[in-house]
Amino acid sequence: MKKKILISGGGIAGLTAAKFLTAQGHEVTVIDRAPSFTKAGFLISLKSFGVQIMEELGLLQELQAASSPSEFVSFVEKDGQVIQHLSYEKMNKNIERSVLISRGGLHNVLYDHLKNQLNVLFSTTISGINSAGNKTKVTFSNGQGMEADLIIICEGLRSPTREKYFTGSQMEDFNTLYMGGRLKTKHSEPVGAFKIYIDVNKMLSIYPIANDEIAIQYYIRDTDDLATIKQRSTETLQESFSAYSAEVRDLLNRFAEEGLMFVDKMGMVNASTLVNGNMVLLGDAGYCPTALSGMGASLSIYGAKALSHFVSKSPDDLRSACDNYNTLMQPIIRKFQTNARNNASSFIPADENKLDQFVKFFRAASDDELKKTMTDPIVLTEDQLKFKANK
Ligand SMILES: Cc1cc2nc3c(=O)[nH]c(=O)nc-3n(C[C@H](O)[C@H](O)[C@H](O)COP(=O)(O)OP(=O)(O)OC[C@H]3O[C@@H](n4cnc5c(N)ncnc54)[C@H](O)[C@@H]3O)c2cc1C
Repeated sequence: MKKKILISGGGIAGLTAAKFLTAQGHEVTVIDRAPSFTKAGFLISLKSFGVQIMEELGLLQELQAASSPSEFVSFVEKDGQVIQHLSYEKMNKNIERSVLISRGGLHNVLYDHLKNQLNVLFSTTISGINSAGNKTKVTFSNGQGMEADLIIICEGLRSPTREKYFTGSQMEDFNTLYMGGRLKTKHSEPVGAFKIYIDVNKMLSIYPIANDEIAIQYYIRDTDDLATIKQRSTETLQESFSAYSAEVRDLLNRFAEEGLMFVDKMGMVNASTLVNGNMVLLGDAGYCPTALSGMGASLSIYGAKALSHFVSKSPDDLRSACDNYNTLMQPIIRKFQTNARNNASSFIPADENKLDQFVKFFRAASDDELKKTMTDPIVLTEDQLKFKANK
């Protein structure tokens, strides 16, 4: 039977869920806090099952058209000495494929495809939720509202609705800031050949993504609060890499002047359950695995497909559908969040000793060891890909 479904947050998770659920014939309403969507944003690498689901949705061509080339990545020490040089083609053999794209670019592929079938209410948030039986009355910030059979909360990492209605969820602070941006500039670096500097308490990635554009992303351990971090973001960038080559310093100075786009602190949501009555958490709002897992977007897309799958199996028993989704997701979430913690300690080593250990191991690693470190941890099992949950 056709259900009334509210999706709060029309990001990657929200739009993917909207796509699957409208295809099942449900009446889907999407609200988003933003006044409009933008194509900009940090670079992400959509991998493995994330790309596979986009292909199932018939969006592979659009995804590839919006992506940037990625050929090689070199992990280097702060003096530029190569620790390890990897080809994406080789890495992709284990995970099928990956696509480098901006968060906004991926989001736009989904939105472009959906915008004629879906009405997004912009500048709108949930201001109140009242449940009676299986129905829930939701009030919006614009004074309007709706009755919903299912409310899917995909408001991202700092979801206010999760904080209000899922009291058991907690934010794990990585005490790491991440910043980055894109800069239009002519350069002579090969496009698609990326460099990642590994250093004590910091990591800097430089991505030449086009002949006239470079993106950077960097992570620095920092225990200050977000407001303080934002306030001194430019100084942090310049000070943190002051011992690097003149070439790197010049580039970072230019970013500080004209190319910085985002500054945030890395956090991870630990929610003991993704379900509360007929409300369900999806994407970063429920299980953000942080940028360090490299899998947040893929997991958002996967979670959206999994939830829609269970809704299609029992449309008249949405609570069971949500419970099955939760059962499937919990071990997957634990796995990817563990990967993120492991990546934090390997790729942002806490002291010289740990840096030394990482450099020695990574430099001498065989293909098999690299596969174990880089791509084995992000593979889902056949059962998980078929949504078979182990209770
Ligand atoms: C620096 C960085 C690098 C990353 N790299 C990768 C990578 O390489 N690979 C990868 O797979 N993932 C990566 N990720 C993670 C990925 O970007 C996220 O996991 C993904 O964007 C989550 O999608 P989402 O839809 O859950 O949330 P979001 O994309 O955050 O979307 C949330 C939506 O909710 C809206 N919203 C917010 N609050 C409200 C509210 N109160 N009411 C209504 N709407 C609201 C927002 O406007 C937005 O549209 C990276 C993340 C970062 C920060």
